Amino acid sequence: MHKSFGAVEVLKGVSLTVERGQVVALIGRSGSGKSTLLRCINGLETIQSGRIEIAGEEVTQDKEKLRHLRTEVGIVFQSYNLFPHLSVGENIMLAPKIVKKVAAKEAHDTAREVLQLVGLSEKFDAYPDQLSGGQQQRVAIARSLAMHPKLMLFDEVTSALDPELTEEVLNVMERLARNGMTMILVTHEMGFAKRVANTTVFMHKGRIWEEGPSQELFANPQTPELRQFVKADV
Ligand code: ADP
Ligand code: MG
Repeated sequence: MHKSFGAVEVLKGVSLTVERGQVVALIGRSGSGKSTLLRCINGLETIQSGRIEIAGEEVTQDKEKLRHLRTEVGIVFQSYNLFPHLSVGENIMLAPKIVKKVAAKEAHDTAREVLQLVGLSEKFDAYPDQLSGGQQQRVAIARSLAMHPKLMLFDEVTSALDPELTEEVLNVMERLARNGMTMILVTHEMGFAKRVANTTVFMHKGRIWEEGPSQELFANPQTPELRQFVKADV
């Protein structure tokens, strides 16, 4: 696929296949197109050419299809964007109730379930401002999971967090990965990518510059660009 903003092409023919249950890490310098790629995958951006398919369904800008797509693809950003006037439980139940028209009881049960998954069972009635950044981010992840997505996208979800809080969020993501969730994640955490992602994709200047099994890719970078990127990080 190709993606331009005005006259500027920022994704210059990107081709990527992610199997069900796979975890793919996207790495690369700032401006290389990682966020744009994620945003195209869940239809937040339109593409100029090419095609994106999720579980056999093409991503289009058709309103009805887009609504459905958003229930199947969860995306979590660096900023958690929880509703401050709603409790944790209410934040999590909102989309299932409104978008999926799930009954109150079921939405409640699901919210309990996903909160437990992110290790915050006791925070159901808390408000976002009573939580640490790491806890808020885990609620944001739980909120996505409550839609029972087929695919989860994470865009630098730990970048704004202190190391300690980063760790608890990464642990949640690792648990999701082990549970078989299909995930594409943009991360600066090279250790995490190496350990948890089956595949790591290195983006450079709007292209997939290198791609391979994570361990191999980090151990044996093939291009000077990736070699330099990996070296700069450690
Ligand atoms: P990354 O996430 O790897 O840092 P981005 O996908 O955010 O990179 O950005 C890729 C390129 O696209 C950058 O040059 C950026 O300035 C540009 N870009 C991103 N979003 C927009 C936008 N909405 N309008 C114009 N240019 C954009
Ligand atoms: Mg980005």
